[in-house]
Amino acid sequence: MMNRFLPILIFVFSTLCLCSCDSTHQTEILGVKCYELPDSPENTIARWNNLGINTAYVSEDIAENLEFRKLAKASGIDVYLIFPVFYNPEALKADSSLWARTSDGERAKADWVEFVCPSRKDYRASVVEHAKDMVSTLKPDGLSIDFIRHFVFWEMVGPNFDPNRLPDACCCSNCIDGFITETGMALSNEMYSSEEKLWFIQENHSQQWQKYKERLITTMVSDLAQAVKSIKPDTKLNLHAVPWRADDYNGASRTVTCQNLPELSKMVDYISPMCYTHMLYRSAEWVDSLVVDFQKQGVDNVLPCIQVGLSYRSEEFTPEAFDACVTSARKSQVNGLVLWSWEMLAKDLKKQKSIEGIK
Ligand SMILES: [Zn+2]
Repeated sequence: MMNRFLPILIFVFSTLCLCSCDSTHQTEILGVKCYELPDSPENTIARWNNLGINTAYVSEDIAENLEFRKLAKASGIDVYLIFPVFYNPEALKADSSLWARTSDGERAKADWVEFVCPSRKDYRASVVEHAKDMVSTLKPDGLSIDFIRHFVFWEMVGPNFDPNRLPDACCCSNCIDGFITETGMALSNEMYSSEEKLWFIQENHSQQWQKYKERLITTMVSDLAQAVKSIKPDTKLNLHAVPWRADDYNGASRTVTCQNLPELSKMVDYISPMCYTHMLYRSAEWVDSLVVDFQKQGVDNVLPCIQVGLSYRSEEFTPEAFDACVTSARKSQVNGLVLWSWEMLAKDLKKQKSIEGIK
């Protein structure tokens, strides 16, 4: 009896498996970050269709291009708006009191990286309003939250970087006083200077201070998530993570960037580490090690983003090295792959070969 039905059972089972594999495959992201379209919207979308690119993470300028949005929608390409949070040179130019400060009292600035203090309520409210405006006007499929952390120029932090040279921010008077108010400590402005208060906090309440700094980031993400979903409930959220494993640089992922990845991963659809190997003097295998490390921390929605072209270095980044990064990024169970950037990939036919096999 069983023998008679066995072939049928096997057929049904394999069909079910194929269907489920197919649907998984269809939802896998193959994305590109794009800041300036190197070609017309029509040609760009046509090339993305050919390469199987199904998701675009774009600047405000591109997202505001109506023709681009229409063509992307018609092709079923999801468009995420890249949304910088605490990197904001324009806001700092208009109001210098917004500057984040390092523990030595200096402005949080390194090269082009300029950070706003994450505890300024007026600035946080303006960011939330801006996100709501963008989502109600442009109706993107997703918001890709960028510069959502404390200040550090991580792009310059290679494998042998001395953790003691990493900055400690934000330590401005607004953050210090916010912490004192939250914890109810008796440290009045009349009795102590900001430097004295900071010294006292770091000496006696370093863990609480650390948690407070993390909360400034985590609550900013939850405020943004709540705001954009109140306008457009199906808005997806992606978060750009600094590519540091839990134990790198003495745990700087938690103590310097203050990105609490396990907490943040519950609030967004994807956590996307910027695995920029060539810039950071890292191997292709490092990409997978980072993905695995994030997953071990409890992040089950990792979406690695890898580097395509040259940045900060002039030595060649070969198609073979890039191909190894593509393989490494997809080695573990991930939600897809994002490429930084389309501008770089568009002009490199050899590197395009590496992603042709993915679709
Ligand atoms: Zn501050």
